[in-house]
Amino acid sequence: MAAIKKPVDDAGSPPAPRFEGAERHLIQPWPYAGAIGNEARTPIETGDGIYITDADGRRLIDGPAGMWCVNLGHRREELARVMADQAMELSYNTPWYTMSDPSAELARRLAAHAPGDLEHVFFTTGGSSAVETALRFMQFINNVRGRPDKKLILSRGGAYHGSTYLSASLNGRPRDRDWMDGADDLVVKLSCPDPFRRPAGMTIEAFTDFLVDEFRATVERVGAERIGAFVAEPVQASGGVIVPPPGYLPRIRNLCRDNDILYVSDEVVTAFGRLGEVFASGDVFGIEPDMITFAKGVTSGYFPLGGVMISARLTEELRRSNHPQAMFGHGYTFSSHPIGCAVALKNLDLLEGGVLEHARTVAPYFQEQLKTLEDLALVGEVRGAGLMACVECVADRESKNPLALDNAVGKRIDAHCHELGLLVRPLINMCVMSPPLIITRDQIDDMVAILREGISRTMDDLR
Ligand code: PLP
Repeated sequence: MAAIKKPVDDAGSPPAPRFEGAERHLIQPWPYAGAIGNEARTPIETGDGIYITDADGRRLIDGPAGMWCVNLGHRREELARVMADQAMELSYNTPWYTMSDPSAELARRLAAHAPGDLEHVFFTTGGSSAVETALRFMQFINNVRGRPDKKLILSRGGAYHGSTYLSASLNGRPRDRDWMDGADDLVVKLSCPDPFRRPAGMTIEAFTDFLVDEFRATVERVGAERIGAFVAEPVQASGGVIVPPPGYLPRIRNLCRDNDILYVSDEVVTAFGRLGEVFASGDVFGIEPDMITFAKGVTSGYFPLGGVMISARLTEELRRSNHPQAMFGHGYTFSSHPIGCAVALKNLDLLEGGVLEHARTVAPYFQEQLKTLEDLALVGEVRGAGLMACVECVADRESKNPLALDNAVGKRIDAHCHELGLLVRPLINMCVMSPPLIITRDQIDDMVAILREGISRTMDDLR
């Protein structure tokens, strides 16, 4: 961890370090048991564009854009100003009985971008609450339909959908679940659609058929009458930027339609320009889900906001049901928050006004340059889509054996890159990159050069 800056006061003696003792009080996300209540993490002080500055004054490229979210970069004055203006205009309104201009206008603008008939939006406070809302909506509509048994949820290995009880129950990364309980009786797991880890000797086409057959067989085994929803990230982000094989998502979408299973596309990471479009489901993958969940980039991380786009076919069905008085008993105090919606509107203006175009233009260069790292012996694969990518390290390229976990390769690369001026997101034997969408070609060159050096130094460590 970076040392904590010790400014000198007027009297010449150094005052107490700024963060000293703070870690005793602050519990950060994802702590190890042995560190709770005493964990020091790298203090970050300021941000500007694609850069952040740590407490040592070291300027770092924000490789993961915070947590896949600072899409427009740090210190955007337009975003800060609109939040301040909205706070002075109307800082809060109860979403139970009223609505604000920004929330209604944002719903209209998002509906115009969403694929198919996803005309309605339910705003939440982030990604987990968006996934939770989609699942509770599925439960509600199946109750109204008189199908109380059609509630099981299909999710996949490698998935990450959140940290509320139900959304977390869908998570497919073992370490997310090893020490945590979940609603296991509600979830059925399918294979991770990871082409790199497909069975040896299997073609991509055969792997796609295998995944589709597995889905079909699972529906037959469990019974379509018991399965309410399938939840999937178009590109699995935290699982290691897993881009599914071509044709897989549309084929699964069709199977969902045939079996009356609601398809929930979790675009918490992939929306708002990460793959070059406002929503990737339709514009990148050619599918029309029943619901899309989003968060993060909707405000470029400037305000906690998320939501669910919902198909007009479903809302229409509820309005015409035998139970028009049945209540969807679900909502958050901060649903449709006017400040969040105002900043999201400005964020959307800026995305539409050139940032999406820029992201589409630099993405191929970003992927090409990162791909050059595959000449390093430690690198098994560099993969990605749009402005998200993953460098996966292996012990042996032939067998693709993952590295022994105690090598903590991701953490080592992260530590070296930090020294050199790049923040990466380490995931055991992987490093994930999703920089702000405003990154330029020169900045991509800097990022890749630092990564190359960070990985090379890690290879030296392991010798
Ligand atoms: N869904 C996906 C695909 C995510 O990557 C995340 C967070 O990383 C979530 C849901 C949960 O979002 P949040 O952390 O805003 O609750």
